[in-house]
Amino acid sequence: MINQLLPDGPLPSFSSIEPAQVESALRQLLDQNRAGIAALLSSGADGWDTLVVPIEQMHHRLARAWSPVSHLNGVMNNEELRAAYNACLPLLTAYHTELGQNAELCAAYQRLADREGTTLPPERLKVVENALRDFRLAGVSLPPERKQRFREVMERLATVQARFDENVLDATNAWSRPVADESELAGLPAHVVHRAREAAVAAEQEGWLLALDAPTYQAVLTHASSETLRREFYEAWVTRASDRGPHAGKWDNGPLMAEILALRHEAARLVGFGNFAEYSLATKMARDPAEVLDFLQRLARVSRAAAGREFAELEQYAGRSLSAWDVAHFSERMRHERLQVSEEALRPYFPLPRVLAGLFTVIHRLYGVRIVANPSVEVYHPDVRFFDVLDRDDTLRGGFFLDLHARPKKRGGAWMDECVGRIRLGGNSALPVAYLVCNFSPPAGERPSQLTHYEVLTLFHEFGHGLHHLLTRVDTPSVAGINGVPWDAVELPSQFMENFAWRDEVLPLISAHVDTNDALPHELLERLLASRTFQAGMQTVRQLEFALFDFRLHAEYRPDRPPRIAETLAEVRDMVAVVRPPEFNRFPYSFQHIFSGGYAAGYYSYKWAEVLSADAFGAFEEQGVFDQGTARRFLGSILERGGSRDAMEAFVEFRGRKPDIEPLLRQMGLAA
Ligand SMILES: [Zn+2]
Repeated sequence: MINQLLPDGPLPSFSSIEPAQVESALRQLLDQNRAGIAALLSSGADGWDTLVVPIEQMHHRLARAWSPVSHLNGVMNNEELRAAYNACLPLLTAYHTELGQNAELCAAYQRLADREGTTLPPERLKVVENALRDFRLAGVSLPPERKQRFREVMERLATVQARFDENVLDATNAWSRPVADESELAGLPAHVVHRAREAAVAAEQEGWLLALDAPTYQAVLTHASSETLRREFYEAWVTRASDRGPHAGKWDNGPLMAEILALRHEAARLVGFGNFAEYSLATKMARDPAEVLDFLQRLARVSRAAAGREFAELEQYAGRSLSAWDVAHFSERMRHERLQVSEEALRPYFPLPRVLAGLFTVIHRLYGVRIVANPSVEVYHPDVRFFDVLDRDDTLRGGFFLDLHARPKKRGGAWMDECVGRIRLGGNSALPVAYLVCNFSPPAGERPSQLTHYEVLTLFHEFGHGLHHLLTRVDTPSVAGINGVPWDAVELPSQFMENFAWRDEVLPLISAHVDTNDALPHELLERLLASRTFQAGMQTVRQLEFALFDFRLHAEYRPDRPPRIAETLAEVRDMVAVVRPPEFNRFPYSFQHIFSGGYAAGYYSYKWAEVLSADAFGAFEEQGVFDQGTARRFLGSILERGGSRDAMEAFVEFRGRKPDIEPLLRQMGLAA
């Protein structure tokens, strides 16, 4: 039967995707997979070729079929497609839950591991080990009653986490601040004032109406001259969905936080872990809770002193002691006065075509691959271009869709996603294809889009993920590219790549004034480099406060007493914070990363991966940014290997030792 989601060729046919047919096409694929798995099990298959290869092929096919739907939903959203997409999500979730709890399938993998475990090549062993681990994490081998309870806990968790999000959203939307006197808006950027005026008009009010969305909140805290306005915004923001503040008790997430922590703890215990922190680490690079806590505490010891000095300097600059709602405002003023570097002023030096050409040169010099536009490939929007990635000998290695400009119906932010994964198994072969997406402003007429340096970093970051996906040599899809890479290591190649965009050797390749072609002036560059380390200590301790709070909350949970949310936060702040928030601060009540997002007992991953990437880049600083030997080792040990081996082993192979925090401290200007 022909399935519209699976064209004959190697690339998706975007134009033949009919939203109305998507759900039935997906159902067909899922049913085929179910039937395929049942047939494998009834035949007693339990070998690499007879069991794992067909399953990998099925899931490669499913991922390839679903990828363009999910991608178009993100970048070319419309009602029909969104409806189709939303109808498919529960089908996929149900399929994966079913798979994870399929005891017969697990037993077949187990037989394979028992019989051939020691003789399987490392890549295959990793695939089998990951599968067995995921079965265990899904509660596959529990007795029926506990298996049922595990499912209930996970379902309830999904519901409660969604309610947590809704409360934050409702509380955010419920608050706004009317402004009658224009002088109160002093300092705010024109576009914020303009939006506030439009909001007032829409609400049939005089004056201006400031909403509590994140960009407005940030703008008020950073730029508003009025301390009263800043304080009101601060209070509204940090008491959202809590028992304090302007809507105290109305969307109180307090009971939900307690329930979420209890459910996570129960789920972790059901499948054999001591607590949820241990459960979280089962799929990560960090080995155990002690290693994570030790890591965070070491970073805290070094950055706390610097943060204290920076805060004292800031108060001296302000000429008074500062409250939590003053810090961003005076920091921005001091930064502006001392460094005189504005992102806007840098734009003309980074026209997009120049940045891209320079980036491709950097990639070529590092890894020998060439990136060449291929206009013959069907794209889904005129802004989008397709590029081939060619090896040293001009053989095709992969390709990517490049979608860089903001437009209506396109999700904000920047990301890399898999379009096609690499596979070479049992007569099935495909080269990796990626989507690389940013939201830069579009070209204005004949003038190319011009980037801020921050946007240049974003582009390098996403290309780091892209290279991880595209340069993989792994043949088995579930551990090829970024698949199977632990959450706390997956940002290594991306953050690593950002480092190049700060270097003297690279900036001349990616910058040239849009009108004069002049190089980036040296003193502008110096100020840009200085801005990288501005208040690095304060920024670090803030991240550490979140990470320590998150991790300790999950690691120290005990079912025989109420969760110590406020107490844990206070203890962590005693240890790391330099800015002491007021008593009414209820920041955990809207901390979505850990209560409703994917970062539960995993917020430390941000810093963990920063250490890895800075340390990996340190090897290039030692040997030269374009040193061939170093680049070849990074390619061979990290980029090409994907998730096919242990992340720590891969790092040690590249660096010759375990990760060290010193290079990150140096990079941030925090080294002793
Ligand atoms: Zn990233």
